[in-house]
Amino acid sequence: VDEVLAAKSAVRIGAGPTGASGPVLPVVDPATGTAFTEVVTGGAAEAAEALAAATAALPTWAATPVPQRAAALRAIADDVEALATRPDWAALITRETGKRLAESTAELGLTVTYFRVMADLVERQEDQRLTVVPQHEHRVATRPVGVAAVLTPWNFPVSIPARKIAPALAAGCPVLFKPAELAPLSSLVLAAVCERHLPAGVLATVLGTPADVVDPWLSDPAVQAVSFTGSTRVGRLVAAQAAPRFLRTVLELGGCAPFVVLPDADPQAAAQTLVVAKYRNNGQSCIAANQILVAREVAAEFTEAFVAATRALAVGDPRDPGTDLGPLAPAGDPARMAELVDEAVAKGARAVTPNAPTPAAGHYATPTVLLDAPMDSRAMTSEIFGPVAPVHVYDDLDAALALHHATGYGLAGYVCGTDLDAAHAVAARLRAGIVGVNTGTPNTPWIPFGGLADSGLGYEGGRQGLEAFQSFLSVATRPAGA
Ligand code: NAD
Repeated sequence: VDEVLAAKSAVRIGAGPTGASGPVLPVVDPATGTAFTEVVTGGAAEAAEALAAATAALPTWAATPVPQRAAALRAIADDVEALATRPDWAALITRETGKRLAESTAELGLTVTYFRVMADLVERQEDQRLTVVPQHEHRVATRPVGVAAVLTPWNFPVSIPARKIAPALAAGCPVLFKPAELAPLSSLVLAAVCERHLPAGVLATVLGTPADVVDPWLSDPAVQAVSFTGSTRVGRLVAAQAAPRFLRTVLELGGCAPFVVLPDADPQAAAQTLVVAKYRNNGQSCIAANQILVAREVAAEFTEAFVAATRALAVGDPRDPGTDLGPLAPAGDPARMAELVDEAVAKGARAVTPNAPTPAAGHYATPTVLLDAPMDSRAMTSEIFGPVAPVHVYDDLDAALALHHATGYGLAGYVCGTDLDAAHAVAARLRAGIVGVNTGTPNTPWIPFGGLADSGLGYEGGRQGLEAFQSFLSVATRPAGA
């Protein structure tokens, strides 16, 4: 952490920070609204240098035996785990993103797991041998797809890069990594940790403009995969660049997750589940609960419990262990939150906010429950990405689910209910890649996670996340004399 902070370079090619020729980027603490340091970004020259280094590393890394690659991943995981016990990396994540310190520490724990899971999965993978056609043996071998470009957002600046870098490295793909402008330092620390255990060029990191960095990477023949997480708007731009070259493409984009409370749900438990699903990461998670759809039978008790929990939220400094909700990121928009609330209120919603005032300085949005939020309010129909919680009481589940399907998104969902068969039946009706049934934390590195429709393409996590960076060579052999 000290090395990254002292170097002030957002370029790491080979081992250690590299000289950078791009513009200087201030790094803002959203809790104060002011810059606490700056980094020098990379330009076209550094992007080209990184590309050359990753391209040169491809043959050797692709040929490195799986146990050796897995050992490198485990060594990275061990280092991250050791660093997670010290306060400075987690504190840096909090300083850049505004997420609570406990969540920053948890993000490092998740990062450890991504590296360990991918090490285990690649070791378990075996070449398949099939004899299904008479007198033929079919063998299916896995191969790395090529150099992989990894483009990530600010909101999980360590674990989202890990979710892509770990499987790419496990598969044998060198990685070109472009972190997000808003939280570059935490990502650069991850790059520094990885470098210690990788040959030069296997991970090359450059933060720079899309024109200087992303465009040349995605148009180079050595680059055969792109894994992007971010907004649907930018995801479409990346897809347009990737499609003509038929790049292996993973796009993890925005969401508008429904949170469905069924008539037989335990209203108190469902309200606590919603607190997690809504306010995690200060409401800035792609899988955050967005449309809260509550059966009339339990609506009174559920909303009372959720409103009480929201009223009790301590909004403030994310470093303070007593804080429940920190600020929005520098790119997050408290004014947009206020607009969403105003529009819903103008259409008849009732707004409820915490008892304590929201801090005036810094980049804070007031958490707001919107009771009786109209179905056509923007809070209901668009990705909120902040601590606003529109609640709609339904009599007709089909009509409520139609609201979910009308958004175009298909990333995550939540269902609360006592009869698990009934809850699973509703989960199966959601257009989503992941659903939490009676849980606000559905994701884990062991399972595939991906979006449908406007939420993206492809999967991360689990075997599917590893296979995103692999190609398969099937060879059919007819033995001599057979
Ligand atoms: P963003 O789309 O603004 O930026 C994401 C990344 O794309 C950044 O690194 C940015 O520098 C880069 N970028 C910007 N313009 C680009 C271009 N023209 N070409 C290539 N790259 C470009 O998103 P953000 O504000 O950092 O993150 C918030 C969004 O990300 C939300 O919509 C959220 O739902 C989504 N998200 C999705 C997931 C998921 O797993 N589905 C996870 C986290 C965040």
